[in-house]
Amino acid sequence: MLEGARIGLKVDVDTLRGTREGVPRLAALLKKHGADATFYFSVGPDHTGRAMRRVFRKGFAQKVARTSVLKHYGLKTLLYGVLLPGPDIGRHGGDDMRRVRDLGFEVGLHTYDHVRWQDTVAHATAAWTRIEFERGLQAFERVFGGLPESHAAAGWQVNVHALELEREYGLKYASDTRGGPPFFPSLDGRASTCPQLPTTLPTFDELLGRNGIEESNIAGELFELSHAATDPNLQVFTLHAELEGLLLLDAFESLLLKWRNAGALVTRMAQIHSLALQRPLPTRAVIEGEIPGRSGLLAVQAAGAAS
Ligand SMILES: [Zn+2]
Repeated sequence: MLEGARIGLKVDVDTLRGTREGVPRLAALLKKHGADATFYFSVGPDHTGRAMRRVFRKGFAQKVARTSVLKHYGLKTLLYGVLLPGPDIGRHGGDDMRRVRDLGFEVGLHTYDHVRWQDTVAHATAAWTRIEFERGLQAFERVFGGLPESHAAAGWQVNVHALELEREYGLKYASDTRGGPPFFPSLDGRASTCPQLPTTLPTFDELLGRNGIEESNIAGELFELSHAATDPNLQVFTLHAELEGLLLLDAFESLLLKWRNAGALVTRMAQIHSLALQRPLPTRAVIEGEIPGRSGLLAVQAAGAAS
């Protein structure tokens, strides 16, 4: 049963197109259904095209076909950083970001340069991580006039230095990881006091094209999975402005309605954070792991207690 369950919505915004077109539609949809969410913005250059070049080079043709990247992202976005210069999302999408905040939604930092962070941070030095993280903080401050209270790492990629920076800058919480209940993260034997609120549910793009799941039945599938979660009462669902805010908007609306009709409260991450703090949080290791339907290794919560 989901009666009284809280589902935190974490909206990752990766591109300028997602910021300008996907975010306003999602905000309007959430308002229409009385649902809340946290929007995590990419505030630096949009180099999506470079990620796609990597995808094609590595031959993930299957994934590309499955999620029809071109249809979802649009040709222009796929050329940013390759044939077209990457536009500065903070500068060109700042008005859209502030509008969402002014509508009453929570906002946080996704990343400065999504492609760079996602490709590099897992094995980056302390100096590299600090430069990229602080670029993100500064660009976020230029947009919103203040520092973010939370961070949601691009592509669920982190390292020990990033966790340390979240603590140093006094972030209230972060959502950089996958799986399990909220916890204090420990990496390379160093623990952080900035709590992690992991994404507990699969994303739409991880499910699409697998086991006969398509646009028409994906909402029902995810709704079932949210019943089967270890702790159905406290969950986090990550969506993307580029997907659920554009071509998958109707599917997402039907998921929202299912949750609402089941008595679940769809809410912002700050709410998940304050509910999580009602109990003592365990310290758990952050390890690299695989998530079905997504390529590469991601930061996941280890099952047992951290040593
Ligand atoms: Zn992202």
